Amino acid sequence: MAYYGLHALQHRGQEASGIVTADFDEQKKRCRFHVHRDFGLVNDVFRDDTLLTEKLTGSAAIGHNRYSTAGASNNRLNIQPLVVNYRDGNIGISHNGNLTNFSQIRKGLQDQGTIFQTTSDTEIILHLIAKSREHDQISQIIEALNKVEGAYSLVILTDDKLIAARDPHGWRPLAVGRLGNAFVVASETCAFDIINAKYQCDVSPGEVIVFDSESLASGNWKSFRLDKSNESPHYCIFEYIYFSRPDSFIFGESVDKVRRKLGKSLAREHPVDTGPTEKVVVINVPDSSNTATLGFASESVKTGHTSKYEIGLIRSHYVGRTFIQPLQDLREIRVKTKFNTVRGVINGKKVVIVDDSIVRGTTSKQLVKLVREAGAKEIHFRVTSPPIRFPCSYGMDFPTPEELIANRCGGDIQKIREDLGVESIGYLSLEKLLESVPQGRGESYCTACFSGRYPTSVDSSAFKDEHEH
Ligand code: SF4
Repeated sequence: MAYYGLHALQHRGQEASGIVTADFDEQKKRCRFHVHRDFGLVNDVFRDDTLLTEKLTGSAAIGHNRYSTAGASNNRLNIQPLVVNYRDGNIGISHNGNLTNFSQIRKGLQDQGTIFQTTSDTEIILHLIAKSREHDQISQIIEALNKVEGAYSLVILTDDKLIAARDPHGWRPLAVGRLGNAFVVASETCAFDIINAKYQCDVSPGEVIVFDSESLASGNWKSFRLDKSNESPHYCIFEYIYFSRPDSFIFGESVDKVRRKLGKSLAREHPVDTGPTEKVVVINVPDSSNTATLGFASESVKTGHTSKYEIGLIRSHYVGRTFIQPLQDLREIRVKTKFNTVRGVINGKKVVIVDDSIVRGTTSKQLVKLVREAGAKEIHFRVTSPPIRFPCSYGMDFPTPEELIANRCGGDIQKIREDLGVESIGYLSLEKLLESVPQGRGESYCTACFSGRYPTSVDSSAFKDEHEH
């Protein structure tokens, strides 16, 4: 089940994958943990079937797909779930997010003699649990989590419990589902669909949920609150724009629904003018902008801009390696291994390309070149988010601020247009973005990568003082 869940969540991390299971031996009254972790995609890491049928046995499991933001990505020891054995038994942990006071806590622990095995921020949670003077594991975990700051959606496996926890700001999603009388927890609900589990609720910001044998018998779980859990949440708005799958339900809403709305708002804010007889062809950048493009095209028609949604770019899902050839542009071949154009729908047309975001701008530039080569008469670029200008401290791996196209062009939209080589460009404004996401049930969002308004203080040295705190 954990394997299928990881498979459905592959988009959240492609560097490495792992599963740990808790296997309780009734006769010896002892629990053994079985672990398998490696670099690669889920399918590659668990290629050998016997890993799942013979090695990873037990009655509970947690897994993780790695997408590194803290800790070297090439360090094998950083692959999660991290597993340790301490005075109260085994403990395994999987973490999505990024801790912001990691360096400070790590230094403090090192000064007290703690030896670190990894360079991952997640390891400090294990040390804080092990060092706690509390007598029961749940109190130890709550004490540890009250000391760390930043983003964490966690699943923790102990000898007899499965624990799910989410930081008080709730940057990353975390959902609870039911499978028969068992419980499942995942970052996104698409992981429940693959195993026919039923979504129950989200782990709310600042909540710690504990599942144990009593939960299996009663169907209920125990819930605890972290300190600061009453502050307003800061859901990562970029999860709706790009990161989550459209078939998931996160922060209380369907991602598909929100993404369509983003496309609609963009069509109203930055329509592409058409003449009385002229029709524009609206194309998506597969796969992340598919849904938003549908919204853009339908709203364009509704507002009197004759448009037609077409599939003009085809994405290969089997991206291989790219070799550096003399006299060949490496970036170009890299994009061409991933995307190709459907000439028939583009040739001689006024084309609108809808994308969810522009980060460095290198892929967008190459896509524009491909569409131009396919014979587009005009190209209009539309983006369902504001320009990304600031780094993320909470688990999204953006390049340095200098590498972001919006900063390279000094925030000047016309310069970005020239750099991409398009007839017009339109970004969804922050105001319209916020109007397009669910509001009213107490939702509030983090928009720091667009606005520079960080919900918490962050380590400025990491960002070279590029933003306000
Ligand atoms: S800075 Fe951007 S990517 Fe990071 S949590 Fe905030 S909205 Fe999400």
